[in-house]
Amino acid sequence: MKMLQKIQLTNLPTPVEELPRLSAALGGPRIYIKRDDLTGLAFGGNKTRKLEYLMFHAKSEGADTVITTGAVQSNHCRQTAAAAAKLGMNCVLLLTIKGKVSSKNQTKEKFLSGNLLLDQLLGAELIWTEVGEREDLLLDTFNRIKQEGKRPYMVPYGGSNPVGASAYVFAVKELLDQIKDIAPGWIVFASSSGGTQAGITLGAKIFGFTGKIVGISVDENAEILKNRISHLATDTANYLNENISFKPEGINVFDDYLGEGYGIAGEPEIDAIVKFARYEGLLLDPVYTGRAAAGMIDLIQRGYFNSNRSDNNPILFWHTGGTPALFAEKYREILWD
Ligand SMILES: *Cc1c(COP(=O)(O)O)cnc(C)c1O
Repeated sequence: MKMLQKIQLTNLPTPVEELPRLSAALGGPRIYIKRDDLTGLAFGGNKTRKLEYLMFHAKSEGADTVITTGAVQSNHCRQTAAAAAKLGMNCVLLLTIKGKVSSKNQTKEKFLSGNLLLDQLLGAELIWTEVGEREDLLLDTFNRIKQEGKRPYMVPYGGSNPVGASAYVFAVKELLDQIKDIAPGWIVFASSSGGTQAGITLGAKIFGFTGKIVGISVDENAEILKNRISHLATDTANYLNENISFKPEGINVFDDYLGEGYGIAGEPEIDAIVKFARYEGLLLDPVYTGRAAAGMIDLIQRGYFNSNRSDNNPILFWHTGGTPALFAEKYREILWD
């Protein structure tokens, strides 16, 4: 396998911990958690792992400015802004909002909390856009920055291309070195742009993890996401000089937990967030890890993890970060019960 160079932005390895009080309360299998909420760098998360490789790539191409895009409370944007600040680069964020962008200032007032507050604090240039106009505006922004005499680099949505996904290939190696005596039957986590699941899926293959990789979709239909992940995992394998390919049928994604849609926390998410907080003192986020944990809890209750119970395999829940969204204005009312 090709070894990749990176710029260090994290403090790895992130810890693995057992969650005995949560397991007991759920009457389910043992549960372990991989704490990628503790990667470091401005509250960290899974995008920080990807950015170690993406920022190396950007620097090696001579870039002085990174451009990326995401939702208003995007963790990816916040971590990109932090990485850019640390490396002395400029960062431009295109943030998508629903509806017309005309009421810019109002929008800012309304949303200036959580990740967005941190984007601002970290010195990123913020540009508002609507989903339908995003691609054109990204291109315009790229060209404008070039015309200003700077050297822009486009960080893909969610950091999910072969460069970014490679980080989770290596993260699997890190995990397996930590859990020699644990042998989880399943790794469960939130899946969205697919880079994390593509990397974990490929890493499992390369490093010989035989349990199931289970993505809980936060915003996408399972067929679409499986397709995206299998392509990205195959492309990432090529990028790393590994002759491995994946098919959508070989990817496990649940899309049963989309609720009212992306970023809308309902009863199941709140229940999961409260359980993790009160049984284990652990903070999940309302968009990704709260939804993934809600999915895991439901799957425990439906007996999904019973298949190998004779072997007593535990579940490994991979915490992917996102906790600043807990402090977004949007979630204030619902998190106060
Ligand atoms: C982006 C993100 C995910 C999803 O990761 P992908 O690689 O985009 O699938 C999960 N959890 C959190 C907290 C995230 O910010």
